[in-house]
Amino acid sequence: MIKEQNQEDKDENDKNDICEECLDNHESVFQNLILNGYKICKFCKTSKTIFPI
Ligand SMILES: [Zn+2]
Repeated sequence: MIKEQNQEDKDENDKNDICEECLDNHESVFQNLILNGYKICKFCKTSKTIFPI
């Protein structure tokens, strides 16, 4: 039971690490989600900052 619960937590964390722009999995995605509210990785965030749409 405990092992299954941990597996679910891990899956949830993995989802939060997926960038909405490039769909890549990076730990910076979750950090940006907390700091800015955007689920994007630091690479996409940098490119958006340099080249704003
Ligand atoms: Zn990205």
